[in-house]
Amino acid sequence: MDRYISRPGDTVLRIAERFGMEAEALYAANPHVSRTRHLAAGSELLVSRQAVPGVFGAEARIVRGNAEYGPRQLSADIDRLRHFYPFLQAGVIGQSVMGKPIGALRIGYGKRRLHVNASFHANEWITSLVLMMFLEDYCRAVSQRTPIRGCDPRELMGRTQLWLVPMVNPDGVELAQEGVAPAHPFGGDLIRWNRYSDRFFRWKANVRGVDLNDQFPAHWEEECARRAAEGPGPRDYSGEAPLSEPEAAALAALTIRQSFDMVIALHTQGQEIYWNYRDCEPAGAGELADRLGRASGYHPVKLHGSDAGYKDWFIQRFRKPGFTVECGVGVNPLPLLQADDIYDDIAPLLLEAMLRV
Ligand SMILES: [Zn+2]
Repeated sequence: MDRYISRPGDTVLRIAERFGMEAEALYAANPHVSRTRHLAAGSELLVSRQAVPGVFGAEARIVRGNAEYGPRQLSADIDRLRHFYPFLQAGVIGQSVMGKPIGALRIGYGKRRLHVNASFHANEWITSLVLMMFLEDYCRAVSQRTPIRGCDPRELMGRTQLWLVPMVNPDGVELAQEGVAPAHPFGGDLIRWNRYSDRFFRWKANVRGVDLNDQFPAHWEEECARRAAEGPGPRDYSGEAPLSEPEAAALAALTIRQSFDMVIALHTQGQEIYWNYRDCEPAGAGELADRLGRASGYHPVKLHGSDAGYKDWFIQRFRKPGFTVECGVGVNPLPLLQADDIYDDIAPLLLEAMLRV
């Protein structure tokens, strides 16, 4: 998109005509422009000859579930969403073992801070797709000033800062989807850790064979003993030390830096919501889980005998509500066809969380 400074006498319709845009597309790209007030000279607008997705016959979404959703699709989608929705803030919180950026997105400016992440586990990449679908629909609702599932998107923006890390484990996702490239620096190890199979679609760990959701300093030693993994592998190995892996360390650092009021980690599968940790959860966490359960149709479950997960650490360290949401049902990796169904469960859950955080 290009920037345009309005001149005396300009109206939205005239600017739209000049650039060959639909007026709706111009409004969508410029949420600060009022439909009912006159345009002041000197206003900055974003203009483009490209159609804005979701407006007048353009593709319904930028974020498409027509192929397995990996780090390349994610980064292309982030670029395109930022292009159309300049109020979306994007940054990088760290790098994976293989040097891939771990992207973070922020939308909203309210006092309450909600963090949602996806794809901790490599073969649960459908959660990244669903989270990005939600982000796009939210952005479009903001820019078009239309309700999102009955909620006023501008009220949500003013109430809640939503912080997303849509793919915690980009190396693992790529491995689960594409296998080992011939020149992969860990190629030999990965094949060995994968019990000499070159099919990685069941892989959950990062590219060093560490389960990132077993990496957090919340009774980590007990989790290691319980899992009893001999070493790196597709799942269940907690690593050599808590936060030894850059992906887990980046997420912990972000969480400390931003003092989130609530966190939600999206996993698959089971249609369940885990909400407690060793009696450290704050009063009201169970009630919140019930609300999220009613919104999504998923079952709140009080879990025992599990440690060192991201939400465990968050609850123990900050004494604030943290949730693991097991999306969808079936065998991981869940088929792409489930993305729309999961979205229908998770979008209301996320909106409820934004209202309750
Ligand atoms: Zn998982």
